[in-house]
Amino acid sequence: MVRFDILTLFPNMFSSPLNESILKRAQQKGLVEIKVHDLRDFSSDKHHTADDYPYGGGRGMVMKPELIIKGIEKVTSPIEGSRVILMTPQGKRFDHAYALKLSWLSQIVIICGRYEGVDERVRKYVDDEISIGDYILSGGELAAMVLLDTVTRLIPGVLGNPGSPEDESFSNRLLEYPQYTRPRKYRGLEVPEVLLSGNHGEIKRWRRMQSLKRTLERRPDLLEQIDLSDEDLSLLSEMRKESDPSK
Ligand code: SAM
Repeated sequence: MVRFDILTLFPNMFSSPLNESILKRAQQKGLVEIKVHDLRDFSSDKHHTADDYPYGGGRGMVMKPELIIKGIEKVTSPIEGSRVILMTPQGKRFDHAYALKLSWLSQIVIICGRYEGVDERVRKYVDDEISIGDYILSGGELAAMVLLDTVTRLIPGVLGNPGSPEDESFSNRLLEYPQYTRPRKYRGLEVPEVLLSGNHGEIKRWRRMQSLKRTLERRPDLLEQIDLSDEDLSLLSEMRKESDPSK
């Protein structure tokens, strides 16, 4: 079971995502526990002030350190397998490999920034800084939800079909093959014959080939990061020949 503790100034933003679909079922099955904490509850002044002007001047406001650091100390269990993550565009880019590591932890504490970000001293209390991409969100809540959803679906038992996370794009560093469902023919577009053949060996080979083809076309950088089997290499050379018979 993974326990998530989310520290935010906007706890209501989590209500709907936590109460739908996979995240809802994962909590009901007891595979994850998700607690959303209002950072203002950790502030000691009576107005529950969360932000203040930046020292040195400049635009915007900065989140005060006390309430975040008190929040971290209050919710973090003194056990092994607990990590404190700050959502920030300045962090390491979030990816499948990191999500997989998180899925084996027992507690994940996530800090959602707002305004111009958090007081720099908060960083001393954080294990990892994570960005979901090279763009700026108004707050860390949506980024935290991306992390929460991605990690939860990797926790054993969360998805109905135990095979599905392994097949998905990035799990084996390849993009997923094309998927089809009924009807067999739609507006003149047909499902590839091999998928209807019932020949599991052929289907597996076709899917691997399509995965390699998609990855080669859309994300060739991924192919450089993996050890391809001899069969993969021969499928790739078949593909290259098909697209350029002179090779
Ligand atoms: N001034 C900050 C900077 O340049 O780094 C950006 C502040 S942003 C408006 C407010 C908060 O949104 C951040 O503290 C962070 O928690 C969150 N945030 C924004 N973009 C993000 C991203 N790409 N990944 C993760 N969190 C992000």
